[in-house]
Amino acid sequence: MQLEVVNTGSELLLGQTLNTHLGYFAEQLQPLGVPVTRAQIVPDGPLIEAAIRAALARSEVVLVTGGLGPTSDDVTRDLVAKMLDAPLEFQPELLDKIYAYFARRKIVPSDLTRAQAFVPRGATVLPNNHGSAPGLWLQRDGRHVFCLPGPPRELRPMFENHTLPVLKKIFAGTPPLTVQVLRVYGIGESSVQERVEPAVRAQVADRAGLDIGYCARPGEVDVRFVAADRDLVNRAAALTRELLGDAVYADGDGTLEQAVIGSAVARGKTIATAESCTGGLVAHLLTNVPGASAVLQRGWVAYSNQAKMDELNVSGETLQQHGAVSAECAREMALGALTVSGCDLAIALTGLAGPGGGTAEQPVGTLFAGLAWRGADSHPRVETQHRLLLPNRADFKHTAAQFALNWLRLKLVEKI
Ligand code: AMP
Ligand code: MG
Repeated sequence: MQLEVVNTGSELLLGQTLNTHLGYFAEQLQPLGVPVTRAQIVPDGPLIEAAIRAALARSEVVLVTGGLGPTSDDVTRDLVAKMLDAPLEFQPELLDKIYAYFARRKIVPSDLTRAQAFVPRGATVLPNNHGSAPGLWLQRDGRHVFCLPGPPRELRPMFENHTLPVLKKIFAGTPPLTVQVLRVYGIGESSVQERVEPAVRAQVADRAGLDIGYCARPGEVDVRFVAADRDLVNRAAALTRELLGDAVYADGDGTLEQAVIGSAVARGKTIATAESCTGGLVAHLLTNVPGASAVLQRGWVAYSNQAKMDELNVSGETLQQHGAVSAECAREMALGALTVSGCDLAIALTGLAGPGGGTAEQPVGTLFAGLAWRGADSHPRVETQHRLLLPNRADFKHTAAQFALNWLRLKLVEKI
């Protein structure tokens, strides 16, 4: 059994609206063991018919989104009726329901609304409690077409309340898929594959049916295992953790900042941040995590040299000799933040986000990071690291913050 999606709407192809329905369906359908096998995006107009026809030729279930509204560009209802030879019939009780929806919202409906009360013969109406466009479920020769409205706030409840229950019956007996994602920091996607896949294929995937996928983001890779056999997925994930060690920072949708807060809470450690080039992004990310207040005690955005000197006791001599973007400055910022805050760890970042200011020796994207912590004897220790990150301002800030969070995470794993 196969399921396909047809997303309609010229706005999706003009880049004005992001097609969120596809990801939403995939996420909702996964527990049913029903992968979306194919999706088409088509503009409003006659291409919709060709797309649905092609989908129906291949798949038992077709989910169509958009084009059920009352305006001239909303043609899905008419096209489906024509295609399936199901003439549109006026349903006065449906119009009453649509009018009642408008009345509840104290809106006077337009005459065009009447179009939404026409239903292809034999179709089942899917109620819309969040808008005026009813959904439609049509059946032909054991195949199913579901037409759902475009706006996500209308589509989602209609899908969950009136479509998923039907799909569950249609796909009854299909084993649910298990998906496990491991998030990896600091190893490129090709290296991750080289280190993981041969061993997983040799030791775990002795049976067919394990799908291994990789999704790279700046500085990070998600490794994804999908199979109907839960045990197969769990064993592949366990082996991957073993092979990649500390580079794996989370399961599923866990974040670096959650990992930092989680370990710091578990170890009773407090953190301070001293940021220049990231403008407070590290502190922002840490404070996105509930419970951060037990960990993050203080953060500085020390952007100017003066601020670095006044707030973090960076020496004027250091700044003069080495500049603000230097290992020496990062070192002093971290030590200053540790001392002033009294925290157990302090992370400092200074770098060149660009676009201006780069030189041959110090190009845009240069980052110096410092990490200070108290050893067992309570004496401050400090390390610095140098990286060349992406030379685009937004990416630079993001990857610098991720670098800082990852370093904190790794330091918290050590028995400091
Ligand atoms: P429609 O039912 O085609 O009139 O769609 C109405 C509105 O729903 C559009 O203007 C979009 O804002 C939104 N919409 C339609 N399709 C999608 C989609 N695939 N993903 C997210 N939003 C959508
Ligand atoms: Mg539309």
